[in-house]
Amino acid sequence: MYCSECKNLYRTFEGTLARFVEARTSAFYQVSTRIAVRKHVDLVRAKNDLCEHQEVCPWAILAQHFGQHGIVQFAEA
Ligand SMILES: [Zn+2]
Repeated sequence: MYCSECKNLYRTFEGTLARFVEARTSAFYQVSTRIAVRKHVDLVRAKNDLCEHQEVCPWAILAQHFGQHGIVQFAEA
């Protein structure tokens, strides 16, 4: 019960999270703190974009009203 923007932002968040996890496990991450910081900033930004949208999105509010897990909570579970 989410709108297309919710789904798009969630896909972006998922992709950013996957790249962050991949980067964290690589040896490259250990030597480049600048890249590590940038990947983390990207991740936080993607999560904030999703949260900000869901605060005003009627579909997300409705889903939470009916007791469904929000996309962000679901992703963190
Ligand atoms: Zn939405």
